[in-house]
Order: sequence, then structure tokens, then C-alpha cells
Amino acid sequence: MRLSKLFTKTTRNVPADETARNAQLLIQAGFIHKEMAGVYAYLPLGLMVVENIKSIVREEMNAITGQELIMTSLQPKELWEKTSRWDDKVVDIWFKSELKNGTPVGFGWSHEEPIVNMMKQFVSSYKDLPANVYQFQTKLRNEVRSKSGIMRGREFVMKDMYSCSIDSEQHEAFYAATIEAYKRVFDRVGIGQETYVTFASGGAFTQFSHEFQTICEAGEDVIYIHRGKNIAVNEEVLDEATLSKLGVKRDELEEVKSAEVGNIFNFGIQKSEDMDFTFTDESGEKKFVHLGSYGIGITRLMGVIAEKFSDDKGLVWPESVAPAKVYLVRLSDRDEVVKQADELYNRLTASGVGVLYDDRELRAGEKFADADLMGIPYRVVISDKTVAAGKYELKARSANDSQSVSLDQLLKTLGVSA
Ligand code: ATP
Ligand code: MG
Repeated sequence: MRLSKLFTKTTRNVPADETARNAQLLIQAGFIHKEMAGVYAYLPLGLMVVENIKSIVREEMNAITGQELIMTSLQPKELWEKTSRWDDKVVDIWFKSELKNGTPVGFGWSHEEPIVNMMKQFVSSYKDLPANVYQFQTKLRNEVRSKSGIMRGREFVMKDMYSCSIDSEQHEAFYAATIEAYKRVFDRVGIGQETYVTFASGGAFTQFSHEFQTICEAGEDVIYIHRGKNIAVNEEVLDEATLSKLGVKRDELEEVKSAEVGNIFNFGIQKSEDMDFTFTDESGEKKFVHLGSYGIGITRLMGVIAEKFSDDKGLVWPESVAPAKVYLVRLSDRDEVVKQADELYNRLTASGVGVLYDDRELRAGEKFADADLMGIPYRVVISDKTVAAGKYELKARSANDSQSVSLDQLLKTLGVSA
């Protein structure tokens, strides 16, 4: 992408109405636009990050037999009444409205009920199970607070997956596979080391649900971790019973602030009973389907990554989610320089390397500041000086100094075969 053509612009002004660092940086870099508190639009560069995260999640969900679909935002009241979850006293974050004829509708904040209702049409026999489905969907939630930037939106993108199994054994196998898939997701986006599978409240039979909590100062949760044993407990279940079950002592645990980037939940057959979701087993007996639900907050994850990978100059995206791998700075209008920069841009792009090509008529300092603010992993400078020397100036976003390298060295570093 040529920056001379990109409609968004960066700004040095920190938005006065934003206290969250993630939103400040993302707005300044032109990645998001604030519509109102807790409601953000994703602009071209921000959307690229969202899509990169989604691609990683999609690959990992497909690898464990997830099938992608997309459910609706408008939800009928009757469906949610079956499980008592239409009631505002039970679910306090509903946005509700009505059709012209007065029929009440709710805006999807989660999709267990509609998924079950839809799956009932397709599942009747044990032969139809297991069936695991997922979606990337914009959830609408009337959250009371929204001071964490994109980490807590009133409108946000979630990956939600639902598993339908014949029994607890089949359910457990998928549940365990999902834990591993989630670990791969968080590794791939660069926060694996700091993300803990955390015991939390809820979950049928098992007493616990599992949250994926990432250590993060800007997070809204508090967890207690044992780094050596890789154990984490949410404060809501931090009691004697839990501790002895996990074989740890209270004073061995470290209290940290964290953000819930994902969670997984075993419903057992409770919801299937409420909604009459059954199948016929091998002996012809009618049974209730075992259900699980598995969320990842895609846009919250983006916010957490922005919080964790940033410095006083701006964002520092991990390569796997960055909107581009290379920020190419052209520092002169001279034909030779333009030619070399165009050539490199074309070559990298043709090799599948994402490039933001700064071909604008701006001072060097402004271009460098934008490269840093946008957090692109590598900056390559082409100037009168580098062309004269037959070299390229290369700097990693996370490094302090630049290096002068040959074309071969440059391509090698960027993973392009010469
Ligand atoms: P929280 O306790 O943070 O409100 P939750 O328990 O309501 O989260 P779920 O309903 O299980 O979360 O949603 C699945 C995932 O979606 C969460 O793990 C989180 O990553 C993300 N998420 C939940 N609420 C929001 C929100 N308001 N904005 C952005 N992401 C969210
Ligand atoms: Mg919530």
C-alpha cells in the first residue's frame, strides 16, 4: 500500500477523551475511529490487524474440526425465554428493540441459544455428532463501563465456537483439543508466554470454567498465578477448596492484573434440556446433546497486543498480526531513488511481503515517526545516500539502531528468496 494513497492520517495529539493506551495509540496511528464510548470503527490498517488475528484463529479452529458459519444479530425473544436469558435481571447487557409491528427483538450478545435452535434442524442421530461450529461475529452488549478502549467495547468482534457431543467423553476430548488450539493461537499472536489457562467459576459438572488470561496492567481482572507450575486462579474461585485441589498454597501465588482474552465453558446437558436438543443413540434411545462454548475476544485481543507491545514512540506489532511487515521510506524524489524504491516495493509485494510504502512528500523525521507510531516490524530507508553506497538502511522496530545492508542481506532478513 502506498501511503500517498491511504486516506487515514496519523496525529501527534493524544485523544483527550481516551484514557486507555490501546485506544490512544490506535487512534493516533489511524487504525481505529471512535464513534462513541465503547464503539469503534476499524479503518484499513486496523482492519488488517483484525483480519490477521482472525486468520490465525480460523486456521486453528478449522484444524480441530470447527466449521465456520455466521449467525444473526437480530434475535427473537421466544428463543431466549426458553433458557430464562431474555430477562434483563438474568442478562444485564441486552440491547433490545422492536419491529414496526411491536414484536420484541434483541441484539445478539452471545449465540448459544440460536446455535442450538439451528443445530436442532440438523442433528437427530448419534451419526450427526460430534458437530463443532464457530463464527466471527460482532456482538452488541450494553456494558456499563467502557474505559478500556477496544478491550471492552459495546460492539466488538468475538470468535465464538460451540461443540455438540454425544457424551461427556466426546465433549471432554474436544474441550481438551480446544485448550491446545487456544494455546497455539496465543503463541502465534505473541502473548503465549504471558497467557494463563485460569480456573474460574462456572461450568456444569466440572465446577470450573477455564479462562485464558493474559498478564496486562490495563486488564480488568485479577488472577493469582504460580509461574513455575503454570497454574492460575481467578480471584472469584480463590478459596481453600480450589487451592488444595490444585496443590498450591496461597502464599506461593503472585497477584497480577490480567485481561480475559478467551474462555471455554462446559454446559453439560443443561441447555439441551431447556431447549429440547436431543439425538437418538446407537440403541435407539433418546439422549440430550452435550454442549460446550468457546470464546475469543478478537478485538479485545488486538487491544491487549497493542497494550503489551508498545513503547513511548507507538505500537510495536508482532509480525504475525502487523498490518504490514515492512515500512519502506523513500527519502528523495530523484529518479534513481524512486526507481529503486519502486522496484523493492514491487518485488516484496510480489513475494507476498506486506509493505507500507511511504512515498509521501514529507520530512524524514515525520516518516520515521509514523513508522514507529504504526509499529511496523521492519523499516527500510532508501535515500540518495543509500543508493550511492549501493546499500539499504534496515531497522527492526524493536531495535535501537539501523544497519546498512546489501540487497541480498535485506531480502534474507525479510524472508524473501533472492
Ligand atoms: P468479561 O468478564 O470481560 O465481561 P465475559 O465473561 O462477558 O467477559 P464472554 O461472554 O465469555 O466474556 O465472551 C467471550 C470473550 O469475548 C471474552 O473472553 C472476552 O475476550 C471477549 N469479550 C467479552 N466482553 C467483551 C467486550 N465488552 N468487549 C470486547 N471483548 C469482550
Ligand atoms: Mg462480560
